[in-house]
Amino acid sequence: MAHVVVVGAGLGGLRTVEFLRAEGFPGRISLVGDEPHEPYDRPPLSKQILAGQWPEERAALHCGELADLDVSLRLGTAAVGVDSGGVELDDGTRLRYDALVVATGVRPRRLPGQPDHPELHVLRRLEDCRALRDSISRARSLLVVGAGFIGAEVAATARTAGLEVTMLEALSAPFARVLGERMGRLCARLQTDNGVAVRCGTRIDSFLDGNGGIAARLADGSIVRADCGVVGVGTVLDVGWLARLGVPTEGGLLCDVTGLVEGTGNVYAVGDIAAWRHPTVGDRPRIEHWTSATEQAAVVAQRITGKQITRQADVVPYFWSDQYGLTLQLAGRCDLATSVEVLHDPGVIKGTVAGYFADGALVAVLAFHAPRLLNRYRKLVAAGAGEHEVRSTAAELASQ
Ligand SMILES: Cc1cc2nc3c(=O)[nH]c(=O)nc-3n(C[C@H](O)[C@H](O)[C@H](O)COP(=O)(O)OP(=O)(O)OC[C@H]3O[C@@H](n4cnc5c(N)ncnc54)[C@H](O)[C@@H]3O)c2cc1C
Repeated sequence: MAHVVVVGAGLGGLRTVEFLRAEGFPGRISLVGDEPHEPYDRPPLSKQILAGQWPEERAALHCGELADLDVSLRLGTAAVGVDSGGVELDDGTRLRYDALVVATGVRPRRLPGQPDHPELHVLRRLEDCRALRDSISRARSLLVVGAGFIGAEVAATARTAGLEVTMLEALSAPFARVLGERMGRLCARLQTDNGVAVRCGTRIDSFLDGNGGIAARLADGSIVRADCGVVGVGTVLDVGWLARLGVPTEGGLLCDVTGLVEGTGNVYAVGDIAAWRHPTVGDRPRIEHWTSATEQAAVVAQRITGKQITRQADVVPYFWSDQYGLTLQLAGRCDLATSVEVLHDPGVIKGTVAGYFADGALVAVLAFHAPRLLNRYRKLVAAGAGEHEVRSTAAELASQ
């Protein structure tokens, strides 16, 4: 194996390079990234770096010098085309590869008719974070469109900095479709308890002239105004450059359990763009979680080096979110669930734990700042524990 080309110099791309070297891969590696920066971590962009608590350098993903990885870095360079033997870059060069790893992530979805306005932001890249942080530092009010995790974290950061925050959500409760109505309402309460005005079941009809700020007319005719805004309404895939591979790309790159893109012999995908076959369920969810990108990179490195594959990815997917000093943790696949049960209800948000069940087996657990409980239930999710075992564990833990 002479040359591995990794496209996308973010979390999944960098981790693939690191794991390849850790597995003893002796060949050439090229890492291509369209951002000008060395690989950095995105979670702090809605948390510590947005809040100004961390210097930007602290988001660097690699400890030490990238040169130690003996990787040919091509930053500020986008891949614009690919076929079965090579990748075309926007500087006109063609990189021939023996194996290709696609780790290009996702882009933020924009609202229909979303204006290009200096005070209206999305959040994915360091530049987005800098621009939003500047707006927040000047503003007295923020409009958050979309109550997903990015919207919720930005709301928490801005509210903690003293801004008036209004949050709009199209569903009846944040995450109602994924977490269920009751847990969704609890996510909303975390915001309202901290002074955010949350308006659910509402959509933006059009943006108006905000006189320097943001103004939007909602479907019910009311108008909301703020000094600045952020749109966090999900993500889209940027897959046009992959067209000549001749594989489906609409729902992400469809991979087997080792990350090989189906229909190819030497193309792999990791991270947010990849839809891996799940090792136990057998379906192909595309999981936009930090931990998934890392786990997938480890498996792909073993596969490319021809080592025995000892690792698995996404057996129990894991996600966390930090808001108002609480860490929300989600382990497992609540998208599979047919019922939700609150396992621990201390009467306040902190310490609440919900279990998600499918066909009587625990498939996911959501915990509001209860890491010890989360870890215990995570093992039960991995084991596919039944309702009886989960309830007796809940009783045992509650009595401790
Ligand atoms: C603000 C924010 C907060 C988050 N917080 C959390 C959290 O608390 N917990 C959690 O579990 N997850 C969180 N995530 C999600 C997590 O960061 C992602 O799942 C992870 O970054 C995915 O890694 P990736 O390598 O697939 O994509 P990325 O890290 O996005 O890297 C992809 C890279 O490829 C580049 N690229 C794209 N197209 C091309 C091209 N054609 N040529 C060259 N380069 C290209 C992109 O510019 C980017 O640099 C957060 C994400 C964001 C944006």
